[in-house]
Amino acid sequence: MVNLDTITKPIFLTPDLAIGGNDVLLLAGPCSVESYAQTRAVAAAVYHHGGKILRGGAFKPRTSPYSFQGLGLEGLQILRDVADEFGLLVISEALGVEHVPLVAQYADIIQIGSRNMQHYPLLWAVGETDKPVLLKRGFMSTIAEWLAAAAHIASRGNERIILCERGIRTFETATRNTLDTNAIALIKQTTHFPIIADPSHATGRADLVLAAARASLAAGADGLLVELHPNPAAALSDGDQSLPLEALPQLMAQSRAIAAAMGRGAT
Ligand code: PEP
Ligand code: MN
Repeated sequence: MVNLDTITKPIFLTPDLAIGGNDVLLLAGPCSVESYAQTRAVAAAVYHHGGKILRGGAFKPRTSPYSFQGLGLEGLQILRDVADEFGLLVISEALGVEHVPLVAQYADIIQIGSRNMQHYPLLWAVGETDKPVLLKRGFMSTIAEWLAAAAHIASRGNERIILCERGIRTFETATRNTLDTNAIALIKQTTHFPIIADPSHATGRADLVLAAARASLAAGADGLLVELHPNPAAALSDGDQSLPLEALPQLMAQSRAIAAAMGRGAT
C-alpha cells in the first residue's frame, strides 16, 4: 500500500537544484528534437536566460500516424550532447515500456505523456527506475485518476514524481485544451507532489502561452514546461503553440515577477 501523504517535497534533481521548493523552475525546449542545430540553438537560448532544464521529444505520441514520429535514439543522443555542452538537465518522454531503459540512460527526468497516464505497465516500468518522473495529466482524466496513476508509479518504489497539468478537453474549441488552474491549486494544497504546468499544450496557441504561464504560477505551480523553437513556422510538431526564442526574456521576466509576488524565486 502506498501512502501518498508520506511523499515529501521538494524533489532534488541535483544536489543544488530542486523542484517543489521555493524556486519555480522553467523546463523548456522544442516539442520534438528535429536536428542537432535546432536543439542546440534552443539549448543555448535556455542556458543564456538562466534556464536549467532542456525538454525535447525523441519518441513522439502523435495523433496521426502520418505525422513526424520523432528521431528516437538519435534524438536522445542529440539532447544529451547539447545539454552537456551547456550544463543543462534533460527531460524526454518514454512512449512505451521498451523506451524506459533508453530514456533513463540519456535523460535526467522521464516524461509520461498525457495519452499514457493510465498505461499501467509503463507507470510500473518508470516506477522501477531511479529517475524523477514527470506525470502529465490525461486530457480526459480526473484529478483522482491522476493521483491514482501517481500511486501506480510510487507502488514500484519511485516516489520522485512531478505532476504536470497540461490542459484538459472541454466543450471549448477555440483553444486546444483548457488549462485547469483549479487542479494546480488543489494539488498544491492537498498533496506533497511538486506540480508544474504546461501552458503550451494547455492552450495550443503561442499567443496565449505567456498568459497561461502567468496564471499557472499565480495558482501555485512549481514550474513551467514550455515549448520553444528557433523557427516555429517550420516546426515538425506543435509549431502553433511554440514560442520563438526571442520570447524567452519576456517569459523569464514575467515568471520572475509572478514568482516574486508569490514570495518565490525563479530559475
Ligand atoms: C509533449 O510534451 O510534447 C506532449 C506530447 O505532451 P502531451 O503528452 O501533454 O500531449
Ligand atoms: Mn508537443
